[in-house]
Amino acid sequence: IMQSDNKNGLKLLEPVRKSGFENGNEHLLHQVQRAGNLDDPEVAALFDAGDPDRIFEDLRAIGHGSFGAVYFARNRESKESVAIKKMSFMGKQSMEKWQDILKEIRFLWDLHHPNIIEYKGCYLKEQTAWLVTEYCIGSASDILHVHKQSGLREPEISSICSGVLLALDHLHSLGRIHRDVKAGNILLSESGSVKLADFGSASLHCPAQSFVGTPYWMAPELILAMEEGHYDGKVDVWSLGITSIELAEGKPPYFSMNAMSALYHIPQNESPSLDPRGGRVWSPQFRHFVQTCLLKKPEERPTSKQLLTSHPFISGGSRASISPSQILLELISRTKSAVRELDDNLNCKKMKRILLTDD
Ligand code: ATP
Ligand code: MG
Ligand code: MG
Repeated sequence: IMQSDNKNGLKLLEPVRKSGFENGNEHLLHQVQRAGNLDDPEVAALFDAGDPDRIFEDLRAIGHGSFGAVYFARNRESKESVAIKKMSFMGKQSMEKWQDILKEIRFLWDLHHPNIIEYKGCYLKEQTAWLVTEYCIGSASDILHVHKQSGLREPEISSICSGVLLALDHLHSLGRIHRDVKAGNILLSESGSVKLADFGSASLHCPAQSFVGTPYWMAPELILAMEEGHYDGKVDVWSLGITSIELAEGKPPYFSMNAMSALYHIPQNESPSLDPRGGRVWSPQFRHFVQTCLLKKPEERPTSKQLLTSHPFISGGSRASISPSQILLELISRTKSAVRELDDNLNCKKMKRILLTDD
């Protein structure tokens, strides 16, 4: 059920995996037994033809996750910049890894929304799937890392939350749930757009019941779902509340604890809030936004649509009349200047990636 993850200590996976037998699909079982098998036409249709090593050039590692690495690359012909997530299904539990890869592609391929990372194709090569998407300059977590001392400003947090809510409202209206909303999965494009990414934990169905996500950002009802039943898109609203605290204070609540303790405290304790002694001055609208996203009872918590259409923190009070993309362009240029000034001798290679397309 749990797998080690380089950033957060723990990554939770679906505890029960459906086998072909459950649906009376015994005849399919001999076909899907082997990871990487493309005999099933539905599976084969998910992949593009061609050798990705010939289609893409100039690969440079830009991120790591629980599956492997993410690369910046260019299409050899069109010179378009892309991101490539290489997911290997070799070795132990290769069938489970293969099923997870198929799930992520099935989730992404038909999604088209300005605030969801754009899918560009998927290739197979040597027991590895290459998932190609549009390229972004980095995640909100990467940017936060550069501004560790000061944190992000309130209009910046509001702009990021607005973009995420547009994406969530779209997903929820399709009956889907993201289940892993956190700064590390919110990307920013060069043009200042917010792009929700990483659909490795997402659910194509609502309500859902599986224990999936990253512990510190998990909603109480999701943690309790194994005993107490189902949950819906409101788990993403909770995670957005936690992400707002992360963007304001640098880390989510309980981050100093181990993941198991956090999983105990989240449903047990009162809801977390912005630190009143944190030394930062936040507007009442922002405090209320966090408080309402973090209502423990999902029935009382607003939906992504309600927040989008009627919460003052989102409708832009704190941003005056400046558009979210203008605010985020300004954040990006502030981040790039800070990164350029970093000492090359310090260990800040990870931050330098933000400058990758500058040349
Ligand atoms: P997790 O461990 O959170 O589940 P993951 O292993 O599923 O993550 P992703 O979140 O998809 O992997 O990607 C890991 C990191 O790679 C991201 O946090 C981000 O920094 C970088 N990254 C992913 N996709 C892109 C992209 N399209 N453009 C730029 N950077 C990206
Ligand atoms: Mg991720
Ligand atoms: Mg993931």
